[in-house]
Amino acid sequence: MANDLEYKPKSCWEAYNSAGDRENMNHLAERYIEFISTCKTEWETITWALERLKEAGVTHNPEKGTYCRTLKGKTLFAAKRGSEPLDKGLRLIAAHADTPRLDFKQRPLYEEIGMGQAKTHYYGGIRKHQWMARALALHGLVAREDGGFFTFVLGEDPADPVFTIADLLPHLAQKQSEKPLKDAFEAEKMNIILGHQPLDAPEDQSKAETTPCGKKEEGENTPKDPVKTHILKLLNERFSIREEDLQSSEIHAVPAGAARRVGLDNAMIGGYGQDDRICVFLAIEAMVALVQAPCAHTQVIILWDKEEIGSEGATGAKSRFMEYCVHDLMAAWSPEAVFGDVMQNTRALSADVNAALDPDYPDVHERLNSALLGYGPAMSKFTGHRGKYESSDATAQYVAFIRNVLNREAIPWQLVEMGRVDNGGGGTVAMHLANYGMDVIDMGPSVLSMHSPFELTSVADLYATHKAFSAFLKS
Ligand SMILES: [Zn+2]
Repeated sequence: MANDLEYKPKSCWEAYNSAGDRENMNHLAERYIEFISTCKTEWETITWALERLKEAGVTHNPEKGTYCRTLKGKTLFAAKRGSEPLDKGLRLIAAHADTPRLDFKQRPLYEEIGMGQAKTHYYGGIRKHQWMARALALHGLVAREDGGFFTFVLGEDPADPVFTIADLLPHLAQKQSEKPLKDAFEAEKMNIILGHQPLDAPEDQSKAETTPCGKKEEGENTPKDPVKTHILKLLNERFSIREEDLQSSEIHAVPAGAARRVGLDNAMIGGYGQDDRICVFLAIEAMVALVQAPCAHTQVIILWDKEEIGSEGATGAKSRFMEYCVHDLMAAWSPEAVFGDVMQNTRALSADVNAALDPDYPDVHERLNSALLGYGPAMSKFTGHRGKYESSDATAQYVAFIRNVLNREAIPWQLVEMGRVDNGGGGTVAMHLANYGMDVIDMGPSVLSMHSPFELTSVADLYATHKAFSAFLKS
C-alpha cells in the first residue's frame, strides 16, 4: 500500500517522462546553452534580456501595458500589467546577472622577463586554483573621454587567441603544496599572460644582441618593455586605444568556450556563469511566454548586478532602482496606490541557484535537507550562516502558498538548506526584497561546482524551474 502520509521529493525524470516533455526539455536546454555560451558579463546578459523582451513586445512605454527600464546597462526591470490594481501586490522574480570572474586592474599592463601580462583583481567568491592553467577569454568595455564606449570579446571565436594564467609545475610546487589552500594561491600572482613577442626593432637595431632573459640590448629606438609595447600596439591597431584608456575600462577574464552537455545521457549542462544566469534565462523566458496572456497580478522581473559582492552600488539590490521603477508603474497604472501597500502585498521569488548534494563531499551537506540534482527547483526558507544570520526567513504561510502553486501543476520541488549548520553558508538578494515587507523565498535549480569555471546543472531541473517560474507569475 502506498504511504501517502510520508513526504518524498519527486524526481523530474519521473514527472516529465512523456516524449513531448523530453522534447521540450531538450529544446529548452539547447537555447539555454546558446545563451550562457555568449552572455558572460552582466552587460551582455542585460542586452540579451532587453532584446528578448522587445521581441516579445515589451516596451519602455507603460501606457501599452508593459514596461521595461535599465540602469547603466547592468540592471533591468520589466513589468506586465495585471488586471488587479498595483496595491494588490506584484508577482516579482529577482535574479542576478553578475558572476565571479577576474577583473583587469585599472592599470593592468606590465612586462616581466619577456612576458606581457595583465594584473587582475578577482570579483566575487572564487577558488583561485580553479582559474589557473586554463583558457580564458576577455570580455571588455572601454569608455573614452568623449563619452563614447565600446565592448569587445576576445577568445570565444575559435579563430581568436585565448589567454591564461600559468600555474606552478608539480616538480617545483613542493613548498606550495604544504601550505593551506587559502594561502597557497596568491591573488597577486593571478596575472594573465597576454603575449611574449617583442615589438620588432627598426632595421638598424635588428642585429642587436639578445640577452638570455629575452630582452634585446637597449638601443636608441628599442622600447624599455618591448613585449608590453607590442601588446599596446596590437590593442591600438585593433581598438584605437592607448594605455590610459584601459583605466576607464572594465575587462573581465572568464573561462573561454561554449557550455556543453555533460554525461553519456546528455542530462547535464556544464558551463561558466550558471549562477545565476540560469535563473535570468528562465525568468525572462517565463515572462516572454506569458506576455500575451491576461494575468491578475502585475508580473515583474528584476535582474540585478553586484549580487556576488554583497548587492552594493547603483546597480545592486540595495540600490533605489527598483523603487524608482515601481513608482513609474504606479504613476502610469495606479496613481492612487500607496507605495508601501504595493510592496507589502508583493509576493517574490529570489531566483537564485542552490548547492546540490555533492556525491564526493556528502559530508559538507546534511542529507535530509539537501538539494538533489534532478529533483526540481530547490527552495530555501532562509539562507545565511550560523544562527541564520544575514538572511530573510520566509513565513510558513508563504512556503505553503508556494507549495500550492507548484503542486497544482505537479511540478517537483524540494525545500533545502545549502549545507550542514555551522559549515559556512551564503546569501542571495532575498533579504533586500524582504526589507520592503514583501513575502520572498529563494528558488532556483541546484548546481554542482558552484562558482567554478565549469558549473554543472541538470536539464531536468532547468525544465522544472521554467515551469515553476511560469506558475508563480500566473499565481
Ligand atoms: Zn547567485
